[in-house]
Amino acid sequence: MTQQQMPTAPTVTLACGIAMPRVGLGTWPMDDAGAAVAVASALRTGYRHVDTAERYGNETGVGEGLRRSGVPRAEVFVTTKFEKEWHSVPGVRTACEASLRRLGLDYIDLMLVHWPNPDQNRYVEAVEGLVRVMEAGLIRAFGVSNFKPAHLQRVFDAGFTPHVAQIQLDPSHRRDDLDAIHRAKGIVTEAWSPIGRGGDLLREPAVTAAAAALGRTPAQIVLRWHIEHGYVPLPKSSDPQRQRENLALFDFSLTDAQRAALDSLDRPDPKMLDSDVFGH
Ligand code: NDP
Repeated sequence: MTQQQMPTAPTVTLACGIAMPRVGLGTWPMDDAGAAVAVASALRTGYRHVDTAERYGNETGVGEGLRRSGVPRAEVFVTTKFEKEWHSVPGVRTACEASLRRLGLDYIDLMLVHWPNPDQNRYVEAVEGLVRVMEAGLIRAFGVSNFKPAHLQRVFDAGFTPHVAQIQLDPSHRRDDLDAIHRAKGIVTEAWSPIGRGGDLLREPAVTAAAAALGRTPAQIVLRWHIEHGYVPLPKSSDPQRQRENLALFDFSLTDAQRAALDSLDRPDPKMLDSDVFGH
């Protein structure tokens, strides 16, 4: 079967002036071989945004997938993230150069501090390191991941405003405190595990009822909820059909009642990772 190209996602313009596609392909937990296949398939389908990390061990495969797809490098938005051992100005430079080598690229679109690791207390230096590699032309935008309000405040106090903040977010894990801070500062919010890893969330009656009413899948309903809140979801799929499904979000809308029903799924989850104690 030949792969049918779908329309690419619309973009949002980051505070630094560059355009970021409003849906990205997540790549955890793909290995290099899996990432090469999945990224090539996603880009041929119409994705133009891919999320990876040093931690995932698949940057080489992501770069390979990009080249295999035949899509020009300039049309693709590539994000990666680095580990806590690099939380210093020279450390970020080293991490960035290593990611560039693994990806086989000469610039990265967006680089993130993966976790704040407050016990180490060097995340502000990590952000400064990102500003320096951006000034050096190695990355086009910088951001943070898994930062709580107190972590962000220290970054702001040091005079830095990230362009993007990536957090765990879905209708049952709403992050309204962070959403308000990000909006006030012009930071674009990206959602990891946007469909709750394909678990119970997709079986919630509010989700399945909207899916039946609109003739869409439960995952599309949840991903459309992200789009309507202004978030940039990063659904992971290794399956070409589900990749297509997760990109087909821009030709329908939720009704106000459907969106409100999804909004009301928010439940505090004690198992959610706490970035004051968890990190790498
Ligand atoms: P997701 O919410 O994206 O769910 C992925 C799971 O859902 C996979 O098992 C996938 O299986 C399945 N799935 C995908 N599409 C559908 C669909 N349409 N219907 C039903 N099931 C579906 O969770 P992730 O945790 O993977 O998060 C997404 C991305 O966010 C990661 O891949 C990674 O890039 C990033 N991330 C960032 C973190 C951070 O600390 N910054 C932490 C965790 C993730 P299949 O592949 O078979 O389709």
